[in-house]
Amino acid sequence: MSAVTVTRVGQVGVIRVDAPPVNAISQAVRQGLWDAVEAIVADPRVAVGVLICAGRTFMAGADASELGKPPVPPHLNDLVLFIESCPKPVVAAIHGQALGGGLEIALACSHRVAVSNARLGLPEVNLGFVPGAGGTQRLPRLIGVEPALEMAVEGQPVAAQNALETGLINAITEDLEPDAMAFAATLIGVDPTPVKLNRPIAAESFEADVFDRWRAMCGRRKRGLDAPLAVIDAVQAAAGPDFQAGLDTERALSLRLRKSPQSTALRHIFFAERATYKVDGLDLSQAGDLSSVAVIGAGTMGAGIAQVFAAQDIPVTLVEISEEAAQAGLERVRDNLEQAVKRGKLDAAQAETILAQVTPTTDYQALASTDLVIEAAVEDMAIKKQIFARLDRACHPDAILATNTSYLDINEIATATSRPDRVAGLHFFSPAQIMKLVEIIRTDSTNPAVTATLAAVLKKLGKVGVIAGVCHGFIGNRMYQAYQREAGLLMLECGSPEPVDAALRQFGMAIGPFEVLDLSGIDIGYLMRKALPDGAVHPLAFQVHDRLVEMDRKGRKTQAGFYSYGAGSINLDDTVLTLIRDIAKKARIAHRGLSVQEITDRCIRALHDEGKAILSEGVAAKPGDIDVVFVNGYGFPRHRGGPMYHGKNVVG
Ligand code: NAD
Repeated sequence: MSAVTVTRVGQVGVIRVDAPPVNAISQAVRQGLWDAVEAIVADPRVAVGVLICAGRTFMAGADASELGKPPVPPHLNDLVLFIESCPKPVVAAIHGQALGGGLEIALACSHRVAVSNARLGLPEVNLGFVPGAGGTQRLPRLIGVEPALEMAVEGQPVAAQNALETGLINAITEDLEPDAMAFAATLIGVDPTPVKLNRPIAAESFEADVFDRWRAMCGRRKRGLDAPLAVIDAVQAAAGPDFQAGLDTERALSLRLRKSPQSTALRHIFFAERATYKVDGLDLSQAGDLSSVAVIGAGTMGAGIAQVFAAQDIPVTLVEISEEAAQAGLERVRDNLEQAVKRGKLDAAQAETILAQVTPTTDYQALASTDLVIEAAVEDMAIKKQIFARLDRACHPDAILATNTSYLDINEIATATSRPDRVAGLHFFSPAQIMKLVEIIRTDSTNPAVTATLAAVLKKLGKVGVIAGVCHGFIGNRMYQAYQREAGLLMLECGSPEPVDAALRQFGMAIGPFEVLDLSGIDIGYLMRKALPDGAVHPLAFQVHDRLVEMDRKGRKTQAGFYSYGAGSINLDDTVLTLIRDIAKKARIAHRGLSVQEITDRCIRALHDEGKAILSEGVAAKPGDIDVVFVNGYGFPRHRGGPMYHGKNVVG
């Protein structure tokens, strides 16, 4: 069957794209659309066209199988110009998503209608390039310069209601095809020329400093990224007098950036995130249903995890050691929800509905019919084993018992139960209600159907799940230890934490390694290291850290750690510098200046080496999984692809 067909209903020519599963804009679709527009132009009985897609979505981007191959005509930018040149009105009827090339095709039509849950956007910037078929030229002409910058620089799709308000679509429809046909009928005999998007943009329609403002914003919020700035250049070109010149500028930027290292890295991480469940032994078709969840421990993590499930309409029992602690846990969920309301992420009614799904208790009997329990109590093996033994007695035999432990051996935790095959790790990151990453830890005996159920539920929750095996720290925290170890050694050589923090921030890490420790508390690592057997910790790398904790310099919470914190000021003080130099001197480490390159290369090499060990032990299935963990959980710059991807360049 042809990917694009044309049928005629009265004076309306219906162009239907049917290229399962997602109507990717393949060569067959491009050629089919070209032929369809030609047919409509040629047929005197047709006065107006409707472009509609079969299946679950409008066109939402290129055909991934054509990526990296020589492009075959008709090219998308030529097709878009051809559709725009059609002398008869054409209505794009949108459902699902109109993204990237899909939106560019819709913008070439004279009118657009969409169902209320449709989403429209230009997400190319997220993959490090600029739309290449007129998206940045037609969008500002249609909705204005600033709203177009908002859509194309942020790369976030907008909902139909928003699209209607900005003028991106002409109407919201209920029943797409008949409504689009009826809308098209109103255009019979109407000249489409005035709504074509190749006209100049009036200079008075936007503020003169708008482009500088957006560039300044990118300098603050999108540090080091090329594509957002290139998108601004392209939209600025649209504001010039010559439509074709603007198209040429956009095309040149798009072609250049597509080949850039940033775009290649961003595409790597994009595909890696979609491949984390492609691992041996995981078959999502084995996933069971979960209708209720319990969380043990309602502290920082437990409250966040409870909220994540409650927000998906899954009832959550929140278990604590006392009534007061249980109520405090519920208050923590309420506080988090209030924050979300303040930030405009939820409305007050939604927050109430989510809170109503959470039931605090101290009674394990309440867990008799729970399908999944996630333990998020204190990081202590004896306590966790006690809890698991109790859960084993309280929960039905098919219930899955998961732990949010950061470091502990889940094989050992599982021995406290009579069902080690139904025990696994579900390692959320803090704050759990915001961070997308979750490591799913398979023990030596986790049943594959249990892993599948956990993987499937994370998908439903909108989380990025990565499969890991048991080891100290799993993938993420183990990699992070290696990174912190190298940073600790570098600090001893430099005589200060500051050059190390500055270099890694310059590299693109969200925050430097010592700044992070000050923020989260140096004592957390201190306690963790104390619990390790002799010889497990590098003898030098963490000496400064341990001394600081013993001096009650635990980080921001004690107003002092690697740095000292006054009212609005952050300083390096002599106590710390002297401590570092004393420890370095005793260890005969010569004080020397280190370049930014050397600092970052050594940290990346440490990460890459640890990643290789993790892979060789089978703790992670593939390098891309490690990249996904480090980019999503530890602030590694996405545009560098992750430590394994980027590390290949450093290690050689
Ligand atoms: P927390 O101290 O904020 O909360 C722990 C809660 O567990 C407390 O409210 C405590 O009353 C409760 N608790 C203790 N014993 C209990 C028991 N027997 N039954 C029920 N509740 C009990 O700790 P947290 O930071 O939320 O960490 C919880 C777990 O999550 C730990 O294993 C930790 O390693 C792990 N984790 C923490 C983070 C983080 O960044 N905080 C990130 C990932 C994983």
